[in-house]
Amino acid sequence: MVFWDFDGTLAVREGMWSAAVVDALRSVDAGITIDAELIRPHLRSGFPWHQPEVVTSPPLTADAWAARLAPVFDQALRAQGVPADVASAASARVLDEYYRVGPWQVIDGALDALRQTADAGYDNVILSNHGPALPELVDALGLSALVSLTITSAAVGIEKPNPLLFAHALRVADAGDDTWMVGDNPIADVAGAERAGIRALLADGVYPDSRGLTVLQAAHRITAPGD
Ligand SMILES: [Mg+2]
Repeated sequence: MVFWDFDGTLAVREGMWSAAVVDALRSVDAGITIDAELIRPHLRSGFPWHQPEVVTSPPLTADAWAARLAPVFDQALRAQGVPADVASAASARVLDEYYRVGPWQVIDGALDALRQTADAGYDNVILSNHGPALPELVDALGLSALVSLTITSAAVGIEKPNPLLFAHALRVADAGDDTWMVGDNPIADVAGAERAGIRALLADGVYPDSRGLTVLQAAHRITAPGD
């Protein structure tokens, strides 16, 4: 079994959350322009993965998950002087904007990496700190044929690196002894997996300190360890 992180490992969304907030704003009022850089600092807290020690039991419904995040976007927009009614309408649209497939790109080599591990007999499972809509996005990006299961933290109510999420993943994916985690976050992916007894490989990704392997190199390390 290979657990793959999603964002920054298999796919990237242009501008990430701050760009989605700006695009949602534009869809509500095309006359207001805000630099995504001004939104970004407001999004460094308030997402469930910023508090991985917190377990939400039972997990939130998709609607409740969205309702929990809306005030984060609302506050970010109002801090830039966006009128309350516009900020509120835009905030309600951010998730749809974020999960729109258009701005997403599968990372170079990711499809080949998934194919390589699948061909070698590994099950590919996505294990990601993400919203409820991740499985649909994985499907829309054409990854489903190579991925047997997508586990999104929102549906479990636990975030990486919380060991309870890894324990849950090992159980529901029915993982055996030969199990790996590949991800671009040294803490959430690598340290989290290793603490749960899963071998982990750091992938090259979006974090400044993730100077890891390309996904293809990671797949090779897993399938041909002696090379
Ligand atoms: Mg990542």
